Amino acid sequence: MTDGLDLGGDLGERLARVASGVDDAVRAAGRRPDEVTTIVVTKFHPASVVRALHALGVRDVAENRHQEAQAKSTETADLEGLRWHFVGQLQSKKARQARRYAAAVHSLDRDSVVDALAVDDGRVLDGFVQVSLDGQEGRGGVPESDVERLVERLLAADGVRLRGVMAVAPLGEPARPAFARLRGVSERVRSLAPEAVAISAGMSHDYADAVVEGATHLRIGTAITGPRPEAG
Ligand SMILES: *Cc1c(COP(=O)(O)O)cnc(C)c1O
Repeated sequence: MTDGLDLGGDLGERLARVASGVDDAVRAAGRRPDEVTTIVVTKFHPASVVRALHALGVRDVAENRHQEAQAKSTETADLEGLRWHFVGQLQSKKARQARRYAAAVHSLDRDSVVDALAVDDGRVLDGFVQVSLDGQEGRGGVPESDVERLVERLLAADGVRLRGVMAVAPLGEPARPAFARLRGVSERVRSLAPEAVAISAGMSHDYADAVVEGATHLRIGTAITGPRPEAG
């Protein structure tokens, strides 16, 4: 991890640029700004970046690896109102521990993870069913044909509230039609769980397409944080 970033200036400028890009996309789509939450993906960046983002007004941050998320959430435990979103593949062994720091898990794609997260401990975690839009194993996500079954399992689970669906745009095809498919999956989910209206989609390079197709939660990393330091 590097701390060669100009934490105040550059970060603030990129954050403002993305905020205005999101605002433009939302308005162009005829939607309201309060329908869309931008989550800043801080993976590979040190806790000091999370601290600087918080000072700039960011309250939603995301990580994709359990150990890193756990460490950074501990280091920033004093920051008021900060919400951690978990967006990576979660081992069922670690799922229960993720309940301690995560407000939301966006990557529910297997029975074992749902079962491990389902704990009646008085807290309610927000959950998103991650959908595979390319049908390829390995990149995470439940196949589109298996979504209803996983949704039923989540609806029966303790301690997790189904918020909606999540996806990453497939590689090597345009993002917008893929996000349109996700919107169709979201409609199917809502026929089982009317309150599960959230759609977590859109990253640095495709968030405008996601906004047009109804995304409610954008997960934006490099466009705000700058390039990630090499994974170490
Ligand atoms: C890293 C990551 C992002 C952010 O990607 P950028 O291209 O840096 O915006 C979003 N979603 C998930 C699941 C990620 O792992």
